[in-house]
Amino acid sequence: MNAPRTTAELQAADSAHFLHPFTDFQGLARKGARIIERAENIYLWDTEGHKILDAMSGLWCVNVGYGQKALVDAATKQMQQLPFYNAFFQTATVPAIELAERLAQVTPPQFQHVFFSSSGSESNDTIVRMVRRYWDVLGQPQRSIIISRHNAYHGSTMAGASLGGMIGMHAQGGLPIPGIVHIEQPYWWDHGREQGLTREAFGLQAAHWLEEKILSSGPENVAAFIGEPIQGAGGVIIPPSTYWPEVQRICRKYGVLLVSDEVICGFGRTGQWFGCETMGFEPDLMTFAKGVTSGYVPLGGVMVGERVARVLIEQGGEFNHGYTYSGHPVACAVALANIGLIQELKLVEHVREDVGPYLAQAYAQLAEHPLVGEAQTCGLMGALLLVKDKARGTAFPEALAMGMVCRGHCFREGVIMRAVGDRMIIAPPLVITRAQIDEMVALIRRCLDLTL
Ligand code: PLP
Repeated sequence: MNAPRTTAELQAADSAHFLHPFTDFQGLARKGARIIERAENIYLWDTEGHKILDAMSGLWCVNVGYGQKALVDAATKQMQQLPFYNAFFQTATVPAIELAERLAQVTPPQFQHVFFSSSGSESNDTIVRMVRRYWDVLGQPQRSIIISRHNAYHGSTMAGASLGGMIGMHAQGGLPIPGIVHIEQPYWWDHGREQGLTREAFGLQAAHWLEEKILSSGPENVAAFIGEPIQGAGGVIIPPSTYWPEVQRICRKYGVLLVSDEVICGFGRTGQWFGCETMGFEPDLMTFAKGVTSGYVPLGGVMVGERVARVLIEQGGEFNHGYTYSGHPVACAVALANIGLIQELKLVEHVREDVGPYLAQAYAQLAEHPLVGEAQTCGLMGALLLVKDKARGTAFPEALAMGMVCRGHCFREGVIMRAVGDRMIIAPPLVITRAQIDEMVALIRRCLDLTL
């Protein structure tokens, strides 16, 4: 048997052959990747034997935690029985049908239909094609503009990255594609605080930026508005409670379709099954991925509300769109096991009634730290804003650098947090316990102290 390869050998092979996503290739080659080898519950171990508390659930996805045998067994059984068959050409597989049925049960009542993909990006690409198709079928093909927000993240494909509002992404590859426009995000700290607005008043103002954009584009040209209930990759921006109900009112007023990107917020993360339920709005369409399988295998999709589904089904004819892996039987079998486990372990209730409020209390104490301007949570999403001058709330001139310093400490101290500019963010697995929250918060506090 070959001897296991050393970390240095693996790092050399990694930098020789593997181009990592969202990575400065040369920078990584100089440093060497940290290689994660195994995981259990909320902990990871790297090839050097370090134990790391994963406060990011992988990449916002391992909702049920690592090492859940039910998901492994579901994949094994399905791979043995039928590893693949497609849903093209009037065929279907049992797991895909049963997952569609189950999703109709756990999503809000307007959703009875699903269109499957393999990722969040593909799901948001599907949105662009589906909402435009909807208006085409209704005889209004000019209704093609989709409104999104600056600093939103909707994926990395051409359409996903165009819907997103990440400046760095738009700077490469000729983005955004035509027909996608952006409004400002509902980030009170940056856009409402200095104007002296309460959070609630700011939420209404931010929603009215949508109305202004609809009017300046011509309501007859606007197909849809898309947003994450809570912006995740943008820095866990939790909008004021007034924002989403007002956005919904405006969309309804002009007949604009409302799309909720639930790729992060879905499947219990915010203390309800879906983020739109926590934020108090009823979308016409909803995209999901990540938490649907807890990341054990790739799967995504679009929940299609009855308003759109009826038109596409009854008047649309063939919808010329789909993926080889739309409804992949192994992914669907894992998703069924994952949803079953979320229900059996009562994870949504656990977040809403137990660990979510407990994390909120712990973060209220972290807000007292001299480096923290504000600390916010919703369910099991959390953000700490790092500030230079706490009394005045002054930002660091090099916001990103400061976050990276703090992230560096987290890395060495054995907790994974993410730095988005000057916001340090977390989204731990939903199975986390109160004792583990204490452990996580103590590590975070130590990292803040080291960053001071
Ligand atoms: N939408 C949101 C809100 C996301 O956070 C992400 C990924 O982080 C995506 C879409 C894209 O998902 P994927 O990376 O699976 O394509």
